[in-house]
Amino acid sequence: MKGASKVAKPAKAAKQVKAASTRARTAPDASHASLRAKLARLGIHRDFDLVLHLPLRYEDETRIVPIQEVPPGSPVQVEGTVFDSKIVFRPRRQLVVRIGDGGGEITLRFFNFYPNQQKALAPGARLRAFGEVRASMLGGEMTHPRFHVLHGDEPLPVALTPIYPTTAGLSQGALRRMIGEALGRTSLDETLPEATREPLGLEGFSAAVTALHRPAPEADERSLALRTHPAWRRIKFDELLAQQLSMRKHYRERKAKRARSLVPAGALVRAMLDHLPFRLTRAQIRVWSEIGADLAQAHPMHRLLQGDVGSGKTVVAALACLRAVENGVQAAVMAPTEILAEQHYRKFRDWLSPLGIAAVWLTGSQPRKQREAALDAIASGATQIAVGTHALFQEQVVFRSLALAIVDEQHRFGVEQRLALRSKGEGRSKGEGRRKDGGGGARTEEPHLLMMSATPIPRTLSMSYYADLDVSVIDELPPGRQPVVTKLVADSRRQEVGRRIREACRAGHQAYWVCPLIEESDALQLKTALETHAALTSEFPDLRVGMVHGRMSSEEKAGVMSAFAAGAVHLLVATTVIEVGVDVPNAALMVIEHAERFGLAQLHQLRGRVGRGAAESVCILLYQNPLGEAARRRLRVVYESADGFEIARQDLLARGPGEYLGSRQSGAPLLRFADLEQDQDLLGAAREAAERMLRDFPEAAQRHLDRWLGGRSDFLKA
Ligand code: ADP
Ligand code: MG
Repeated sequence: MKGASKVAKPAKAAKQVKAASTRARTAPDASHASLRAKLARLGIHRDFDLVLHLPLRYEDETRIVPIQEVPPGSPVQVEGTVFDSKIVFRPRRQLVVRIGDGGGEITLRFFNFYPNQQKALAPGARLRAFGEVRASMLGGEMTHPRFHVLHGDEPLPVALTPIYPTTAGLSQGALRRMIGEALGRTSLDETLPEATREPLGLEGFSAAVTALHRPAPEADERSLALRTHPAWRRIKFDELLAQQLSMRKHYRERKAKRARSLVPAGALVRAMLDHLPFRLTRAQIRVWSEIGADLAQAHPMHRLLQGDVGSGKTVVAALACLRAVENGVQAAVMAPTEILAEQHYRKFRDWLSPLGIAAVWLTGSQPRKQREAALDAIASGATQIAVGTHALFQEQVVFRSLALAIVDEQHRFGVEQRLALRSKGEGRSKGEGRRKDGGGGARTEEPHLLMMSATPIPRTLSMSYYADLDVSVIDELPPGRQPVVTKLVADSRRQEVGRRIREACRAGHQAYWVCPLIEESDALQLKTALETHAALTSEFPDLRVGMVHGRMSSEEKAGVMSAFAAGAVHLLVATTVIEVGVDVPNAALMVIEHAERFGLAQLHQLRGRVGRGAAESVCILLYQNPLGEAARRRLRVVYESADGFEIARQDLLARGPGEYLGSRQSGAPLLRFADLEQDQDLLGAAREAAERMLRDFPEAAQRHLDRWLGGRSDFLKA
């Protein structure tokens, strides 16, 4: 905007910024660094980021409204001549300026002003003022309008004035100027081939960008605000396309990498199936054949195995490990908690020891001797299967021949870790996986990767953030499972809950009591667990009440869990350490205290700890009144639905993808413009377009990626 530096108060800051930005390309100095820091706060690192720094809203300075006709309450621009200007001291010091345009008069009021502004607003000055008009006793008035003193004939702007998201110390004027300059020197040429753009009816890129930064006065403000305007749709499409291209590129690159081909090479898988006390469900058989086919390929598998809680993913993981063993190489299984790692280890032991195969287990807190023995066995190849926590993927762990890595409950690891793991696999194979294949190819191999999750990924997410993965779904529970009956019970009715616990335990079942989630403080959570344990112990003198929480050593935890699994503990007081994976089929009752504090997926996971045996199971969600509207709605979803997919969808709607994907800590913006729910059609279109572009227009695809990702290699890394 012309004359921006003359506009009201931020003049000083704007001048500094202006000076800095003109120096920017010659000598970096302190103010340059400070400008850079401010821009970085807005996520702006290069010209194209300025181009994509899109307005929050607009103001219409293309029109002058006659003062007489000014509607109260909405922002307008008026033009007039000052006929009175004075400083008033009551009720506080202020500059009161009266202007008129021949038809009407209006008051401009300033509580903060510089002497030079007062001078500029002297009687006789002609000016344009933009602001919201309030009716007052003395007629209309504007408080702190943006104003602009006119010198001769100045044409009105021809576009709406953009209002940008900004940060302290960076004025709209400065930002506008920088964006204007960036628009001038950045190529806005088309990256979409005509064949892609045409059928989708998308606006041209340059036109879209211009329309958003400088909309014509007659542009539809509503669709601009709602971001449904064709220009917005083009930008959103481009963003989604960049994400899809990035994911699909990873996908294709993976197909070009090498991995050890794990073919059926022995009788172990067969033998384990024969020994199992149950038969695989049809869904398990199907996913196992999908995984088996992937493992036989000479390039790395990256497959996500989804299946609701209790659908039986672990046994599929064990089969995959055996396939590695049959081929004389190693497999690793990583779980997010020690309890879960320990449980997997026991299960594997039960299933594998009849076959003469021993696994080792590794966690961060196990005794040093044990840990060193495990490390040795892993390094020498004495063991072919390692089970553990993320300790497995630490620096010191050297595998002799890791060919398969399995990550259980992978959603617990978040997007960042998922990507980290991917690159960890690469580093690892360079360091250790070197093997001299016959045929002279000294190329390195990457492990196959199997990720498992009971938190289903809603379709829109799996189409976007997980588009680089193949997905298998176990969509069937083992036979004979009783659905869990969920009850919502106000905390005031606790006594009834006590009666139920006694009844369940008398009938030979076991129960969990889940302590409230206390996110702010570990210590407080521990205290609550101890108190609950004490209270329940005295309430049920005839029952054995155990306790497990995050502050216990892994040995202690393992001891309690195995006592519970063996039936020696009736009632287990637990924190969320039991949230995922814990499998004790005889447990038929779960009480969750302060259920309103938990997330949807978390409640569903917790509830999945019961209903694993043949007995009818009950999950009691205790809540504290009064219950807020949002909490009530959340609890209702869990109460009404037993379907993990539906619950996940609701959870995503409530929390948004950032938190859902677990990348909250990183603060990295995932998608800035597109909204996966609102823009599902664009997502689908971008997905198809990405495939076609990579195939038919690889150069255009690369240009599009460069434009949107800059130097980044991953879409998710800021
Ligand atoms: P999740 O998919 O939640 O990880 P698990 O692998 O822990 O589920 O399996 C839940 C329980 O179901 C375990 O006790 C497991 O042994 C059992 N199970 C798995 N598959 C079957 C099957 N086909 N028939 C009967 N029980 C099964
Ligand atoms: Mg599991």
